[in-house]
Amino acid sequence: MTSRPDRRSPAMPTVTMIGGGQLARMTHQSAIALGQCLRVLAGSADEPAAQVSANVVLGSHNDLDALRAAAEGAVALTFDHEGVPLHLLQALEAEGVNVRPPSTALHFAQDKLAMRLRLSELGLPIPDFADLSGDSSEARATLIAFGDAHDWQIVLKAVRGGYDGRGVWLTDSRAEALEVFDAQVGGDAVLMVEQKVAMVRELSAMIARSPYGQGAAWPVVETVQRKGQCAVVVAPAPGLSAERAEEAQQMALRLADELGVVGAMAMELFETVDGTLIINELAMRPHNSGHWTMDGAVTSQFEQHLRAVLDYPLGATSARSDVVVMANVLGAEQAPSMSMDERLHHLFARMPEAKVHMYGKGERPDRKIGHVNIVGLAGETITDVRERAERAAHWMSHAEWTDGWDPHAA
Ligand code: ADP
Repeated sequence: MTSRPDRRSPAMPTVTMIGGGQLARMTHQSAIALGQCLRVLAGSADEPAAQVSANVVLGSHNDLDALRAAAEGAVALTFDHEGVPLHLLQALEAEGVNVRPPSTALHFAQDKLAMRLRLSELGLPIPDFADLSGDSSEARATLIAFGDAHDWQIVLKAVRGGYDGRGVWLTDSRAEALEVFDAQVGGDAVLMVEQKVAMVRELSAMIARSPYGQGAAWPVVETVQRKGQCAVVVAPAPGLSAERAEEAQQMALRLADELGVVGAMAMELFETVDGTLIINELAMRPHNSGHWTMDGAVTSQFEQHLRAVLDYPLGATSARSDVVVMANVLGAEQAPSMSMDERLHHLFARMPEAKVHMYGKGERPDRKIGHVNIVGLAGETITDVRERAERAAHWMSHAEWTDGWDPHAA
């Protein structure tokens, strides 16, 4: 384990973020503005946040000594992923480390079954589900009964460790579901099953909560998923009634209060065919569905997360425009030969309004390597803004214009 010299301003608090990914990288941008230097625990020096922070501890989030070294002298310890084992967080808390969100809350973001059980206790709307974590022959029988009761329109999920659609299997038949179950349970995964929700779209309600108990909610957004991961976010969610939006925000704020969440929290929701809302997932950290706030809201989710973990008053969450669209730059099947630098040059020449955020990651198919935000101008339609955001993101990953535009002909 090595660390670079600590050159932070002594007058300002040090926050440690566990994980060196893009969320830590973008949190560091906000830390800079607040006069801080985010300390990150990263697995290697080339991770997105380790490239840019002057205060990096190299080590594993599974290693208590590395976590201790990262926490040393920090006023708060927070996360860019859900991967730190619960018992290690509890050990840090017992040693006096200020873990935010605390392990008692984070547990529900790490364990989909625990989350479903708690949400159902609180009477919040969730899909029908069943626990497949016990003895495998009993679990198989439970799965068969659940599948029969739901016409085999079901979703199998790994209870822990899934992300971006990994660890989630949407199946359509008994044979398909049992095949997934046998393969996964044979490979030691702990599973749960839930009803496949008939939905019109997916939404996300992002909020932040401070230890003082202050809560703040951003406008509810629509998230567009492709290949199991978020591709586009439209803020605010088009056509969502004020009552439905308020209902989603209130559910998220109430849940954060009940669970004692500190920091940013995303509540992913399904809008069903009959117009009701059902909770899918919780993330207790900055989240892809909040990237639009960097350019499109008065306070970005990254700054808000820092304000919350430091128990500062929270910032205003209103949008800067009637429509803001974020499109992820997702690695192409075949990385283009044109350099990223040249792609950026061309993008800026064509779309001076595009706000680009690249993560310093290598290109791999479907990998999240950056995102583009477009803040709509007065009078622009959602369709126009969305088209431009997606065109810009596609250009950055594929070096091709979706509308066939040719700069030399223009
Ligand atoms: P992850 O933790 O990988 O984000 P999620 O539980 O959010 O996993 O599931 C990923 C995607 O799978 C969701 O965004 C949604 O499109 C689909 N999905 C998950 N659960 C259900 C469900 N119960 N009904 C229908 N679709 C679902």
